[in-house]
Amino acid sequence: MVDNGAQNEFADWRWQLARAPRDWPSLAAALRLSPSEIERRQGAAERYPPLATPYYLSLADLDDPDDPIRRQILPDPAEIAPAWTAAADPLGEQDNSPVFGLVHRYPDRALILLNARCAVHCRHCLRKRNWGRELAWSQPRFERALRYLREHQEIREVILSGGDPLLSEDATISRWLRALAGLPRVSSLRIGSRLPVVLPQRFTDEFCAMLGESPGAWLATHFNHPRELTGEAGAACRRLLRAGVPLVNQSVLLKGVNDRAEVLRELGLGLLRIGVKPYYLFHGDPVAGTRHFRTGIRRGLEIMAELRGTVSGLAIPAFAIDLPDGGGKLALTPDSCVGSEGGAPCFKGLGGRVYRYADDDPEPRRQKPEAGG
Ligand SMILES: *Cc1c(COP(=O)(O)O)cnc(C)c1O
Ligand code: SF4
Repeated sequence: MVDNGAQNEFADWRWQLARAPRDWPSLAAALRLSPSEIERRQGAAERYPPLATPYYLSLADLDDPDDPIRRQILPDPAEIAPAWTAAADPLGEQDNSPVFGLVHRYPDRALILLNARCAVHCRHCLRKRNWGRELAWSQPRFERALRYLREHQEIREVILSGGDPLLSEDATISRWLRALAGLPRVSSLRIGSRLPVVLPQRFTDEFCAMLGESPGAWLATHFNHPRELTGEAGAACRRLLRAGVPLVNQSVLLKGVNDRAEVLRELGLGLLRIGVKPYYLFHGDPVAGTRHFRTGIRRGLEIMAELRGTVSGLAIPAFAIDLPDGGGKLALTPDSCVGSEGGAPCFKGLGGRVYRYADDDPEPRRQKPEAGG
């Protein structure tokens, strides 16, 4: 296209990335923060650098300090509060990584970290420890990961994750898709991407067609608030569906963003309207730098009880926690708790083992070394 009008620039995903404020002064300016606010949030911004696309920024109400979009991108002093001593990698992803870039925790599913880049740095991110890290997929690493998938015949689904896997170049994505399509035992492919929410411009007809050619490809996205359900986001989802890519949504329950039944009800109904099935609502993992977003499991269960019976079951996600130390995901209902220890509820996880889940104030956990190579 040769039109250089502002409208066309805004609709161009590469322009969105090139213009995304990616340091504190530029984000603070875009959000029109006062000097005292800039100062107050400086430390958190230095520890976890901010990033947001102009599109996502345009959804924020700059006059509302409680704005749900703003909350998701604005560094908060609580992120670096010393009282919070959660682990950087509480899910033990590093421990479950047999070869570079691959996490194998459930026998039948393997997760591949395609890159460590995102279009927006969500303040509640459970992989914020990886921001700015390079995932260098050399040819030998690529081959080693494929060999692992080939040799582990029990793997039926591959999940492409990141960062955001769809920020990779088309050629890189296409190479992975073709390689995975060549694995006869792998019957489905799940692409975990927040781009429908923060960079819907990425989903051109051509790009969607490429994803849709992949047999068994699903896209799992990450809408947290009904305000994110814009015309652009809806159009991106429609193009994906038309190309043959079914869509599900994984939200995170976030204090001050979506921790009310009416917000989640509206989100669920809005997702159904654009053809996206609400799949999971995660309770915030005890990840370093995210404490201020956690609501506690009890609050989550209350909200679930309010949703049940007041809205279509199709609009209701499963409320789930990720058990610590690789214990797996667990969907919670009021009766799933199998006891408590030291004030923390306990749940039965993978292999029938009982996991203690530090709900609000986890004890200091050892920091796990970052696995490399
Ligand atoms: C979440 C996750 C999965 C997928 O779990 P589902 O319940 O199938 O959505 C697979 N592997 C890892 C490592 C995960 O964290
Ligand atoms: S898009 Fe996903 S991986 Fe990236 S910062 Fe947001 S939550 Fe984290």
